[in-house]
Amino acid sequence: MFECQYNEEMEAEVRRLEAKNRAAAAGHPEWVNACAVCGCELQSDSAVRCATCA
Ligand SMILES: [Zn+2]
Repeated sequence: MFECQYNEEMEAEVRRLEAKNRAAAAGHPEWVNACAVCGCELQSDSAVRCATCA
């Protein structure tokens, strides 16, 4: 139970950091997330690409 929750928190943290890295790579480190393809701003850290590039 604890381990499962721990893993989910780790995955959420990794997802957040990867999103931050994409934002920084797009030239906007203040963004939460950026599309990996076109570099446009994404409001959520759950997606890697925007709707256009998906
Ligand atoms: Zn895109």
